[in-house]
Amino acid sequence: MPVRWPPRSAYLHIPFCHRRCFYCDFPVVPLGDRAAATAGAPGSASIAAYLELLLAEIAAAPAGPPLSTLYVGGGTPSLLSAEQLAALFRALRRRYGIAPGAELTLELDPASFDQQRLQAYLAAGVNRVSLGGQSFSDAVLAQLGRRHRRGDLLEAAGWLQQARRDGRLQSWSLDLIQGLPGQTLPAWQEQLEQAIALEPPHLSVYDLIVEPGTVFERREQRGQLHLPEPDLAADLMDLTARRLAAAGYGHYEISNYALPGHASRHNRVYWSGAGWWGFGMGATAAPWGERQARPRTREAYAAWLQQAPELVPAGSGMPFDERLIVGLRRREGVDLPRLAAAAALRPEALAALQQRWQPFLAQGLLLQEGPRWRLSDPEGLALSNAVLRELLAWWEEEGSGAADPPPSR
Ligand code: SF4
Repeated sequence: MPVRWPPRSAYLHIPFCHRRCFYCDFPVVPLGDRAAATAGAPGSASIAAYLELLLAEIAAAPAGPPLSTLYVGGGTPSLLSAEQLAALFRALRRRYGIAPGAELTLELDPASFDQQRLQAYLAAGVNRVSLGGQSFSDAVLAQLGRRHRRGDLLEAAGWLQQARRDGRLQSWSLDLIQGLPGQTLPAWQEQLEQAIALEPPHLSVYDLIVEPGTVFERREQRGQLHLPEPDLAADLMDLTARRLAAAGYGHYEISNYALPGHASRHNRVYWSGAGWWGFGMGATAAPWGERQARPRTREAYAAWLQQAPELVPAGSGMPFDERLIVGLRRREGVDLPRLAAAAALRPEALAALQQRWQPFLAQGLLLQEGPRWRLSDPEGLALSNAVLRELLAWWEEEGSGAADPPPSR
């Protein structure tokens, strides 16, 4: 089902970080540990120059309806001053407007902001924060190449709790990483207990993935990175799901958990197949369903902007396999016959997919409930990679001829 209506969501990418963490392959520009947006501080000129480009991209974007979700991510967006953030919000208001009650999320890294700056961000309009905690262990944070330490994380979380109690912040999320080198079940349980004690309304728990070109990849190649074996990795995920469920968190997507009413509206846009605007170096946009990646370096991004890129509806929307993957990541799963019909999938191709999935049905990892197919919770969500790998293999074999060209309007 091609997405043809303009998005109501936007992502802004702020690529600056103090340093590159050892596991990170995001499009980031490390500015050094003393970097700040304050005029004259290390990195301030780079930040100001980049924001000019970002503002120009927003101003030249196609028009659309007012935004109902906005996510400012990175990188480390807390390297921006509140005034710089407010200028970005003004540009988006001019271009689209921001709908009443819109969810405005800002990513913050511990040790990159203080309580006063948090208050200024909230005054600028931020109403949701995503805090990049990753771990409560100083040894693990050092192993990950993170700049902050446990004390910084606890202090930042305390400010967010206070802002929520005062009614100035609607919600906040804590990021953690599981499946780290040397991680054991008791050590991970202890991490979860510390996270729950902070009462974040939302938790994102990501698996460590060793990405090409990272310090972690080099360590792995040298045999110095001892990741949990697959059985232990699955047990860690299972522990996460069970412990967070007992603490009242709903598991609404593979990596995301929320107390009632605190699921991220912006995240749901990504997984629902709806479109979003994306602005900035390395940002991914999908205004009409099909993903468009911007260049991943400042120079290439500036050159791309110079060429006045054509940002108009194109293509046939999100491919069928991608719609299935994003749909299966969600707890509610997908209406398979409806998706297949919308993509004009040949009946024999659909039958082949269902055949490939039979073993997962038999194992209880995948559930069929009427027309809906979903991963079971927690087993299926914990072992989702096996199901999704089979899906990709099927698409590779059947994909090009599986779907007729979708109807255009
Ligand atoms: S702070 Fe985040 S974006 Fe920056 S290097 Fe570390 S993981 Fe990557």
